[in-house]
Amino acid sequence: MPLVDKACEEGAVDSDFSKYAILGNGPAGISALLAIREVDPDGGVVIVSPEVERYYSKVLLTYWIGGRIKFEDIFLVEEDFYEKNGARRAFGVEATRVDTVQREVELRDGRRLRYDSLLLAMGSSPEIPDIPGVNLPGVHYLRTIEDGKKIREATSASMRAVVIGGGLVSIKTVEALLAHNMEVSLVVSSGRLLSQITAPEDSKVTFGMFQAPGLDIRLNCDVRAIEGEGRVEGVRLSTGDVIGCDMVVIGKGVTPNLSCIQDTEIKTGAGIFVNDRMETGVCHVYAAGDIAEGHDIARGKPWINALWSSAVWQGRIAGYNMAGRRVSYAGDVGLNSVSFGDKCLITLGKTRPDKGDEVSLFQDEGRQEYRRLIFSGGRFVGAVISGPSAQASGVLRSLMARNEDTVAIRDTLLGARLSYGDVMQAGTRLSHYG
Ligand SMILES: Cc1cc2nc3c(=O)[nH]c(=O)nc-3n(C[C@H](O)[C@H](O)[C@H](O)COP(=O)(O)OP(=O)(O)OC[C@H]3O[C@@H](n4cnc5c(N)ncnc54)[C@H](O)[C@@H]3O)c2cc1C
Repeated sequence: MPLVDKACEEGAVDSDFSKYAILGNGPAGISALLAIREVDPDGGVVIVSPEVERYYSKVLLTYWIGGRIKFEDIFLVEEDFYEKNGARRAFGVEATRVDTVQREVELRDGRRLRYDSLLLAMGSSPEIPDIPGVNLPGVHYLRTIEDGKKIREATSASMRAVVIGGGLVSIKTVEALLAHNMEVSLVVSSGRLLSQITAPEDSKVTFGMFQAPGLDIRLNCDVRAIEGEGRVEGVRLSTGDVIGCDMVVIGKGVTPNLSCIQDTEIKTGAGIFVNDRMETGVCHVYAAGDIAEGHDIARGKPWINALWSSAVWQGRIAGYNMAGRRVSYAGDVGLNSVSFGDKCLITLGKTRPDKGDEVSLFQDEGRQEYRRLIFSGGRFVGAVISGPSAQASGVLRSLMARNEDTVAIRDTLLGARLSYGDVMQAGTRLSHYG
């Protein structure tokens, strides 16, 4: 049931004008709204989203599915948030077409919203693999709160699950399902878990970290078919094995939601290209969050860092610029933190070295410490860390964001015990050398 604020109601006006139109009610869209309001308290804002729920945290979905938090805790704002911030909602309906010449957004129900400035913050959607049985009841994806509700409901009637894909969302899902005492098989095409954010050298540490009672990990395995009469009963693998199960969760990556801009001049690669003010290059159109290729400091090039914190930063920068305050995005360093039971793995920046990069490894099995650091032309550009020194990851990220020559402090970074204080001190030393 679409949730549409009064002035956006169908038939209220044929072509409805707002100074600012925001496509997306996630962290990028909401951060833009708050930044606009800092600069322009009165300009009209409309927020469009195919979902009906108020702003919530995707990051917390698996904690709710696993029973660690209450449903209400997922929401990040109160019901009256939109009204208080002078934003009209067009919820439960998606944008299907953007016309950057007429400055209009067309919605699925035929309504048109005119704008002065437009933010594209539509995030991404799960990729649906081309295998028989993907549409059977009992097959799930996890991207939205609705997906989360379906998975949580399924846990009450399911004993055995297969999770397909070894990325961050899959691992968080596995942990949530294990919390319901389910038996879970994790099927991964690659030879290691978290293959998008680690390198082959890290496979021992990632494999060791994700062992748990009730979990069966199958690496180097493809799913050939999801089988069942009328609903999921099992999964057939490339090895010939069949794993019996009553639910499947697929986490095989995501694709940015770009379909509504396909008739425009907006330039895209893996995502939408933006400059340091989050402008797309087409007049009055901005992009932010998972949909945008913002500057990545460690890689020195545009990159999609599909992270909550990046979406917040980019959304804010876009919002300020939309409202006329010129602010630049300095770029970002990706930080992924994956916890499983009492173990934690942190990845920072570029985790797979390019030709000419130097890699240094520190390992202490007794302390379960693992630190693989990557340097490029003297700069610190990437890290995979597990164990006690993970506590220093925030400050390591700041060091990486400074993008300076770190040769003078390399020994500290590779020292046997690396603490938050060590990195702070090393960073200060760098400033003095500079
Ligand atoms: C289960 C899960 C766990 C995660 N865990 C972490 C984590 O631990 N740490 C971390 O940093 N990141 C995590 N992420 C990633 C993080 O949630 C995203 O990077 C972040 O939400 C991106 O924000 P966004 O605003 O760009 O897009 P989204 O949050 O995806 O929001 C997109 C918005 O656009 C709307 N929309 C879609 N299509 C249209 C359309 N055609 N027209 C209008 N609106 C549209 C959507 O309904 C939604 O409101 C996780 C993601 C998931 C799914």
